[in-house]
Amino acid sequence: MASLAAEKGCKGKEGLLAPYAASEASSRGRRHAEPPHPYRSAFQRDRDRILHSSAFRRLLYKTQVFINHEGDLYRTRLTHSLEVAQIARTVAGCLGLNSDLVEAICLAHDLGHTPFGHSGQDALDRCMRPWGGFEHNLQSLRVVDELEERYPAFPGLNLSFETREGILKRCPPGRAGELGDLGERFLMRRQPGLEAQLANIADEIAYNNHDVDDGLRAGLLTADELAGVGLFQRHFAAVRRGRPRRQVLLRETVRRMINEVVTDLVENSRCKLQSAVPASIEEVRARARPLIGLGSETAAAHRELKLFLGRRLYRHERVLAMNRQVHRVVEALFVRFMADVHAMPAEHAARGIEWERGQGEAGRARAVADYIAGMTDRYAVAAYRRLVDPQLKW
Ligand code: MG
Repeated sequence: MASLAAEKGCKGKEGLLAPYAASEASSRGRRHAEPPHPYRSAFQRDRDRILHSSAFRRLLYKTQVFINHEGDLYRTRLTHSLEVAQIARTVAGCLGLNSDLVEAICLAHDLGHTPFGHSGQDALDRCMRPWGGFEHNLQSLRVVDELEERYPAFPGLNLSFETREGILKRCPPGRAGELGDLGERFLMRRQPGLEAQLANIADEIAYNNHDVDDGLRAGLLTADELAGVGLFQRHFAAVRRGRPRRQVLLRETVRRMINEVVTDLVENSRCKLQSAVPASIEEVRARARPLIGLGSETAAAHRELKLFLGRRLYRHERVLAMNRQVHRVVEALFVRFMADVHAMPAEHAARGIEWERGQGEAGRARAVADYIAGMTDRYAVAAYRRLVDPQLKW
């Protein structure tokens, strides 16, 4: 029975994939060769490695938009990553794409995020300006390629090319050349595989719609303000006609918004695939434009929502006040660790000293940035209180 289960295990699902999907057979492989697993596909293994990583567990205490301690009901990077994966798996199933790969990409896509959401990343980027800056997509790749230490034979998680390709959804100009085959598409203006394209848009769908939900819950947004946003208003008006309780009204509105956008994503992408008929993942990669995406009307409605959130939620006075505090904390920690690497735990201090020997001050700065980026919100606050100001009000 065991061997039958192995033969008929989930690997068998790859036979149902569309010809343009990523598959183990067409994979560009891992950086360090490994024998195949008897009953898990390469992408299932990638997903499992990500799930068991320390960086993944730390996402639980990293902010999405709202500072982690503000309430237990808001999204964190962990729940966000799970929601992205759920949306993407559904779409992958409809389009014949590799749902194991797309899940692996989605679960890993935010591993390089700093504590305190985007303001944490901006603060760390500012600190790192003299040494090449800090960018969370590159850092996510760095986490899976180098920083996770679990395997005796290689650094990082040794993920498949396709998973790494999806994790690196953006790359600052000038850095692509350092990334070998992974950076090529940014230089050649080509596309990643369809699973990577899907993970990218599922991320946007998840955060735009869930930020509405969290923003309403936090009282930073009101339904009246959102009345000017077509996607919200249409569903809000329809749900309100049934006179549900207020909380149900808002939840059901957001649920329908997500459903509308995801349905359009499936239908529009299916149309594009049917007319382009790419014969393989390599044909997908050779194209100048993505094949997974929203139709123009839904894309415009979704963009309107995104712009609204940019204006009203991410620049809300309460969010901005927290951002200023975040910049103070991140900058002070950076300065402190640069002045004395031994203020960091021994393994990070050792990296700082070793890398400084090879790369000068830039090496020390990178070790400090890695350490700060790996912190959770509450760990960073505790470090600040211990090393800089015990009186910090948070
Ligand atoms: Mg994300």
